[in-house]
Amino acid sequence: MIDKILEKNDPGLSDVTALLNAEGRDRGLLFEKARQVKAEHVGNKVYLRGLIEFSNICAKDCFYCGIRRSNSRVPRYDLSDEEILNAAYFAYKNRYGSIVMQSGELTGPHFTERVEGLLDGIRESTEGNLRVTLSCGEQTPETYERWFRAGADRYLLRIETSSRELYSRLHPNDEKHSFDKRLQALRDLRSAGFQVGTGVMIGLPFQTTEDLARDLLWMKSIDIDMVGMGPYLEHKDTPLYTYRDLLLPKQARFELSLKMIAILRILMKDINIAASTAMQTIDPQGRERAIDAGANVFMPNITPCRVREFYKLYEDKPCTDENPDDCRRCVEQRIASVSNDVAYDEWGDSGHYLKRTRPADR
Ligand code: SF4
Repeated sequence: MIDKILEKNDPGLSDVTALLNAEGRDRGLLFEKARQVKAEHVGNKVYLRGLIEFSNICAKDCFYCGIRRSNSRVPRYDLSDEEILNAAYFAYKNRYGSIVMQSGELTGPHFTERVEGLLDGIRESTEGNLRVTLSCGEQTPETYERWFRAGADRYLLRIETSSRELYSRLHPNDEKHSFDKRLQALRDLRSAGFQVGTGVMIGLPFQTTEDLARDLLWMKSIDIDMVGMGPYLEHKDTPLYTYRDLLLPKQARFELSLKMIAILRILMKDINIAASTAMQTIDPQGRERAIDAGANVFMPNITPCRVREFYKLYEDKPCTDENPDDCRRCVEQRIASVSNDVAYDEWGDSGHYLKRTRPADR
């Protein structure tokens, strides 16, 4: 039966659910197909994104997140502009091709201008040769447009779950945490011209396998360009920790995450899929296994070590004390271990984005 599903061009909800439940021989077929699709459509190379977690200050209170506003146990930091520009330059000099600038969610004219100024500074110091992804939460359409014009190319805004009902159990019930606003922000990002990324958490309390299948079909329906998703990992200083007894064992969440990546690769052949750090928290080879399952983006953390341990959305986050030089060697070894190559000096734009914005090339 799995063989037939894997041949379908447009699998439905029951098909995708069956793939998520695949075991034994069926599971093997799923991963084999994902490997084939990856080799054919995006190749066996892995693009690097140097990750700069530039501030853990956040105005929101998501129930699952270790740096939520109400967690008074986490020391707050905000890197200086100089530290951020130095980290971006490190990525450029080490031929990463691109960076991700991530922060808690802050809004307002000062924050908009600050990010704009940083984008200007990065463009100047790297002569426009470094692609920049922003991951700074929900902003107004005008802010998105300003940041796009200032040189950001991609934007990552995870929905965490495409189920409205589950979303309401993961967030306070107020305007600041509105599911509809999240959806609108994703549309605004696309209108502004970005390569748009999203993602979900896998193995949340109250989440069903069908919810996950719907997540995958939803990503396809909104024609997303990039995805970063991984297992939900509980953090003891968060409200969602109360429900930890409802969770699947971590290994089961990891296995589901691998299947989600493999199925997404089959559903959306030319998008960029990140091997999330959360995978490595459960399995020491987690990110390599994600690449083997269909991911093609790796995000080495280049945040200065002095603050890295404070950006913990979940506990036991790996690589919080590794310096960027050690990190580079480690990344190369990890990627080579699954017969993929590091794509140095390449921007690694989403092939899906390039096709949808340049239809004449099809
Ligand atoms: S998930 Fe993002 S927006 Fe929500 S509390 Fe954490 S950093 Fe803030």
